[in-house]
This record gives sequence, C-alpha cells and structure tokens, in this order.
Amino acid sequence: MSFTLAIVGRPNVGKSTLFNRLVGKRLALVDDTPGVTRDLREGDARLGDLRFVVIDSAGLELAEDDSLQGRMRRLTERAVEEADICLFLVDARVGVTPADEIFADILRKKNAHVILAANKAEGAAGDAGALEAWGLGLGEPIRISAEHGEGLDDLYDVLRPLA
Ligand code: GDP
Ligand code: MG
Repeated sequence: MSFTLAIVGRPNVGKSTLFNRLVGKRLALVDDTPGVTRDLREGDARLGDLRFVVIDSAGLELAEDDSLQGRMRRLTERAVEEADICLFLVDARVGVTPADEIFADILRKKNAHVILAANKAEGAAGDAGALEAWGLGLGEPIRISAEHGEGLDDLYDVLRPLA
C-alpha cells in the first residue's frame, strides 16, 4: 500500500524545493519570490525504498483577488482532503510566524494526519526556529534541509510505518 503526501505551508518555506528533491525531476518551479509556483503539482516520490505520491500545494498562491488567509485556508483544506498525510513545513531560519499558526489551526480543525518539519535547518542558523516549532503543538518537528538533502533519513523513519 502506498500513500499520498501533501507538502503544505506558507509561501517560501521550501515546499517546491522539497517536492523537487523527492520527485527527482524539476517539475515544480522554485524561485526566491514567494508565490512564484503557479500550479498544484503532483509527482511520484522516492525516498529510500518508499514510493508515494507527493503534492506541492503551491496552488494556494494562485488567486490574487483573494486574501492570503483565504487562499491558504482553501488550498490547505483541499490538500488535506486529497492526501493521506500532510507534511507541514515551517522555516527554521525564520521561526514560527502568524501565518504558520493559521496553518496549524486549519490542519488541527481538519483532523489531518500531520508531520511537522522545520526546513532550512542546515547548520546552526535553524536551531532556534526548529525549537520554536514545538510550540505549534503538532509534535516533534523533524529538522530537514530540502536544499541540502539533510534530515531526509528522519523523514523516512516517520513515513516508513505509514507505507
Ligand atoms: P515554496 O514557496 O514553499 O515552494 O518555497 P521554494 O521551494 O520556492 O523555496 C523558497 C526559497 O527557499 C528558495 O530560495 C529556496 O532556494 C530556499 N530554500 C528551500 N529549501 C531550503 C533549505 O533547505 N535551506 C535553505 N537555506 N534555503 C532553502
Ligand atoms: Mg513553491
């Protein structure tokens, strides 16, 4: 049995970077400008011997005529409905923001199966932010670096029993 994993989180936390790493092809657009990814992307992910479907929930950045909060809520709700598991990314270098708190509330209200990860955690610059992520009340944050491919063994360990 396999599963579908949706990568959720506010713009610029590294969702597309992680998606690209898991899928191994540059299917999703990555840019320094928050909101640059135009489409909801789905790909076949590989992590060790695990095979699963991964969704880059960047589509929330689409509707420009709506509030960010409204977009975040709608897309996250859709991701929760389409996926078995939500990988909720926060930025370890920035720490927990009000937008992250909103995401956490949405995920809680939806009773989503959430895995929390603090991305950009390479080096010591992510230490404080990763600690802060505990405060979201979603369990232990996995420290990862999507860009440098770090912490993916810990992600594997969490996903393995769900496969
Ligand atoms: P998204 O908006 O959540 O899809 O974020 P992106 O994947 O487009 O990444 C936003 C920015 O964060 C880009 O400049 C990435 O290169 C950068 N980024 C992503 N992952 C990491 C990471 O693990 N470490 C660092 N330092 N930067 C990262
Ligand atoms: Mg993106």
